[in-house]
Amino acid sequence: MAAPSPPNDPSTDPSPAELIAARPWLRHDPMAGLLMDGVPLAAIADAIGTPTWVYSAATMRARYRSLAAAMAEAALDVQVHYAVKANDSRAVLALFGSEGAGADVVSGGELLKARRAGIPASRIVYSGVGKSEQELRLALSEGIGQINVESAEELSMLSCLADALGRRARIALRVNPDVDAGTNEKIATGRAEDKFGISYADAAALYARAATMPGIDPIGLATHIGSQILALAPYRDAFARIAALVVALREQGLRVSAVDCGGGLGIPYRNEPAPSPAGLAACMRSAFHGLNVRLAMEPGRWLVGSAGVLLASVVLIKQSPLERFIVLDAGMNELVRPAMYDAWHGIVPVSATDAIAPRVPASVVGPVCESGDTFARSRLLPSLAPEARVAILDAGAYGAVMSSTYNARPLAAEAWVDSERWSVIRDRQAVETLWERERLPE
Ligand SMILES: *Cc1c(COP(=O)(O)O)cnc(C)c1O
Repeated sequence: MAAPSPPNDPSTDPSPAELIAARPWLRHDPMAGLLMDGVPLAAIADAIGTPTWVYSAATMRARYRSLAAAMAEAALDVQVHYAVKANDSRAVLALFGSEGAGADVVSGGELLKARRAGIPASRIVYSGVGKSEQELRLALSEGIGQINVESAEELSMLSCLADALGRRARIALRVNPDVDAGTNEKIATGRAEDKFGISYADAAALYARAATMPGIDPIGLATHIGSQILALAPYRDAFARIAALVVALREQGLRVSAVDCGGGLGIPYRNEPAPSPAGLAACMRSAFHGLNVRLAMEPGRWLVGSAGVLLASVVLIKQSPLERFIVLDAGMNELVRPAMYDAWHGIVPVSATDAIAPRVPASVVGPVCESGDTFARSRLLPSLAPEARVAILDAGAYGAVMSSTYNARPLAAEAWVDSERWSVIRDRQAVETLWERERLPE
């Protein structure tokens, strides 16, 4: 990638004020402290404690609408399938569903959650490299809009299952275009060595075979090259290869009516330059304009990532000989992205007085018994006192969904702010439920 500046050099970090200025749904009020859409985050922390995830519903809605508008302005008719795995809260799914979005799901659980949130089966696309027989049967019996098939083996399995159920599965072949999206190793999916999709060289023959298989209705191609993509060139390359494949398949007399462009559009965690939906729309248009295919996309992070914060409280400040540690009550079991992807997240104080206090370097860590439980190193922050609150920014995607109860820590509460009011969208897990499904052997 366009590697971001070295994560340990605080002089290149945007300040809390700069981070807040770039996120208009957040504002520091000189009395009430950090506000989300006018609601003091301190009030939410006072009422339901920390750690707590808080999302701006208005921001999610506005981002969905601006994405849809960018596609419309490029004269593209695109069905947006929200990638459920980014944030699978039912409130969030219902929000996008009511905006007209479909869902991109990667498990039977996500499929059922999307249906429970009111998303019609016809607007559900099922992706993933390891769909089980049981999950495929569920997808067939729900009659979902499209199954993105990732291997010849899966195609055979699906054909048998669909035939046995007397159904025809609308499928797209997920093609691995062999492009490097320049993102973190763990979230690149479109290189030949990645486990995802059907190799470009095999795709045409498999598509031709799919057209002859019982229970299979091939409708098109899909691709998804990775996540947190901050450049448009990889999209341009991938879409050009998919467009060429559409043409080649049609030359063989095969019907190709749909192309699913995947997700992956990145967001500016560090206020770095990031591509816009208009830029992505231009790539889609230049590849697919004139091909007369129905287009779809599967954004996750771009729609929800910036719209959420993780609210945490300072447990204590620990001065070691080498470093000052700000120890929070939130840890890697809540937000794993720093530990897993070396991700940088903005951290801003919640209180109005902390917001204007002088800043000194500190490492911000959680209470979990792992050295990887570190949110930031040498970060310039005010000298926060115990019980002071901070908001960890851009935690709306791959945050709560990736939480665990490691160290027997119950799952945090989730709240959202809508129309200047806040509400709980998931209660904090009760500690007793950590062991209620356990059994002691005789
Ligand atoms: C994860 C995933 C997405 C969403 O990726 P984002 O980076 O969140 O936009 C879309 N499609 C598929 C197949 C995925 O696995």
